[in-house]
Amino acid sequence: MIKIEIENIEDKKDEYISKIIDPVKSRISALILSIDHLLGNSVDVNHVDFNACRTVTKLICKEFSSLKINDYKTFLNDYENTVKQIISDPNFGNDFRNIKLKDLLLFLNYLMENDAFELKELLVCNASELKTKNDDFLSDYNIDGNENKKVLKLAFNYEKYDNVTKEIKDFFRSNNFIDYCPYCNYTKVRFIKTDGGRTASTHQLDHFFDKASFPLLCYSFFNLIPSDSTCNGSSNKGKIEFTDEFHLNPYTGGFCEFMAFKPNLVGTKVENIELEILAPLGSLIRKQMLGSTEQLNEDNKGDKEHEQGNINVFTLFSKYKEEIEVAQNVLDTIYRADSGLKPLKKFLNLMPEINKKETYKSWYKDSINTYFDDKFFGKEGKSKFKRDIHDYYYLTLNNKRRNKYVRDLIKGEL
Ligand SMILES: [Zn+2]
Repeated sequence: MIKIEIENIEDKKDEYISKIIDPVKSRISALILSIDHLLGNSVDVNHVDFNACRTVTKLICKEFSSLKINDYKTFLNDYENTVKQIISDPNFGNDFRNIKLKDLLLFLNYLMENDAFELKELLVCNASELKTKNDDFLSDYNIDGNENKKVLKLAFNYEKYDNVTKEIKDFFRSNNFIDYCPYCNYTKVRFIKTDGGRTASTHQLDHFFDKASFPLLCYSFFNLIPSDSTCNGSSNKGKIEFTDEFHLNPYTGGFCEFMAFKPNLVGTKVENIELEILAPLGSLIRKQMLGSTEQLNEDNKGDKEHEQGNINVFTLFSKYKEEIEVAQNVLDTIYRADSGLKPLKKFLNLMPEINKKETYKSWYKDSINTYFDDKFFGKEGKSKFKRDIHDYYYLTLNNKRRNKYVRDLIKGEL
């Protein structure tokens, strides 16, 4: 798990808002109009969102009315009269009564007032505030139950409303916030297109809080995680419901300092890879890594333990345990440099600290083929894994005095 680092985050939030606010407002406006009509208020056929609203009303009636509406084409053509007829019918349907139309209307209007201030807040609120924001909105306006969620989905629907999702996808594709999946740091997720604009390579956008349970969060920037099809797919996350208690959103943080891959050696040969958990027992981060049992449970044993903790959900240990060759290459490269390149040490020793640090990092980039600093781990695959193997060499395998400068660099003391 690698943190998604975003530079100029405030500018990016503004860019996101400016791209999607109009289509999202149109969706909400259509739902507001529709609820207004179902509450018996007058219909303005000239309203800019009238057409979209007719379809929404039709869907609400279809979903919640027990009346059989045979001809939905007539429904659309004779909208005003049909709506009047439906809402005056005493058998409008029990299910329909469970929708809190007035509360929904108040809430949607609240999102839209003051130039959609609260809506914008919802769209770009921090990852750690998403759940609270969702829950507060719904409880403040007494919106509960699946029926009301279904109505909200008529405005907040990621799959259905292409004009919104197109903008969202464009935003993530053009920004490429991370090149490798933040969940696994294993698979490339950079969006690449041909000169003519065809997609050559792309990512999926995982909804950290799932679309079905949290429709209000389906367009929120920090609920959307560029990830690969295995991590996001049914073999890993799929429809598992994520929580802040047992899962970590990669916009909030990563696991870098809380876990380490460790090579087990026979002589100089890597035999296998272990995963060491460094997060303290009982800590929140440990539960976000491993769930309530705080144990590795990557297999589905029917007890749902594999659904808790990002390491378990994304099978992070299994993804890396066969990377013996990569680990061996990293160790061999470092061993060669450590034993054969004494001039490099001498050279480094003569340098001021700042240059020493940069020279080592640049050697690391050229030789290990990835970045030394964890803030750049998202730019290359297996960065965290390689860095762990590197650190294991200097901290455990070979802690000679002359390598103190690397250890200081590892500990961030240079
Ligand atoms: Zn992944």
